[in-house]
Amino acid sequence: MKAAVLKSWLNVELEDIPVPVPNENEALIKVKLAGVCGSDINVYRGGHMTATVPRVLCHEILGTIETLPAGYDGPFHVGQRVLMNPVTSCGECAACKRGLYNVCENLKLHGIHNDGGFAEYTKINVERLVAIDDDFPDEVAILGEPFANGVHVMHRTDLQPGDTVYISGGATVGLYIAIFAKAYGASRVIVSEINEPRRQLAASLGLETINPLETDPMDKMREVTGGGGYDVVYDASGAEVCVLQMTDLCRCGGKMMSLSHSGSPFKFMLGKVSFKEITVIGNRLYSQEEFEAGVRFLEDNWKEMHLDRMVTDRLGLSEIKTALDMMLTGKNLCKIIIDPTK
Ligand SMILES: [Zn+2]
Ligand SMILES: [Zn+2]
Repeated sequence: MKAAVLKSWLNVELEDIPVPVPNENEALIKVKLAGVCGSDINVYRGGHMTATVPRVLCHEILGTIETLPAGYDGPFHVGQRVLMNPVTSCGECAACKRGLYNVCENLKLHGIHNDGGFAEYTKINVERLVAIDDDFPDEVAILGEPFANGVHVMHRTDLQPGDTVYISGGATVGLYIAIFAKAYGASRVIVSEINEPRRQLAASLGLETINPLETDPMDKMREVTGGGGYDVVYDASGAEVCVLQMTDLCRCGGKMMSLSHSGSPFKFMLGKVSFKEITVIGNRLYSQEEFEAGVRFLEDNWKEMHLDRMVTDRLGLSEIKTALDMMLTGKNLCKIIIDPTK
């Protein structure tokens, strides 16, 4: 089968490799669409903390079931269109024993720790399959994995109706957090993004935006909150300047979350967190229940909220390097999806 293999950092090549052979618990999936994620780029540039090469990347996968395990009698059938939760936890480490399967010490993410969806076929444990409605278009369903994380982010930050929210970064992650924050009843949600087409996309989804190069985020904070600061501040940009400003934008006793999983260090003034009694909250992945809740949210709301607009670029597998480089240099508008048949 055709697959995009990351041979070394920044070096991806289209190769012919064997179709994966499923073990006794796994389904073989024919990939229909594969989403490019920021964490793929973290691996691509050699910045991921646990990834190795060679590897077929991609954990955002929509496909059809090609084969099921012998004797399988669960709810799925061959030919069915599915999404998949890419998280495999060990069930035995200290984190798993506490029920924290999404931060398992031995966690394997499909498409980072084993071969994923930038290929014609992939395989996954049948317990990780997620059913989708027949009338749910491929181009929207492929957002299921990011929206699963959106549900987890809302749970982690315990967003309350009436909260004021600030998000730096208005690509896929910033947008799904903003969409969920509004759905959870936030009174004002401000998306800060320097890229004009991204601000236009956010505005077309009914979101309030600022260009932080033109509008001082501190001035905007004073206008929105009366000067006290936002209840919840998210960083989806990964930019040092944005992360350092989070403590100034957050209210005393407020909450802040960085969505970055970068392994690169920079100086951060922890004293400001203490001084304002800000709660800093981590975030990674989702549970199976949250994954299913994210998919249901998309199914229920994509039409009314025009969430199909978030998929902005569709490329073939032969253009994978272009796709990865677009993400690396911030030239993508929002979500890039890959068609493995092209
Ligand atoms: Zn992702
Ligand atoms: Zn574990």
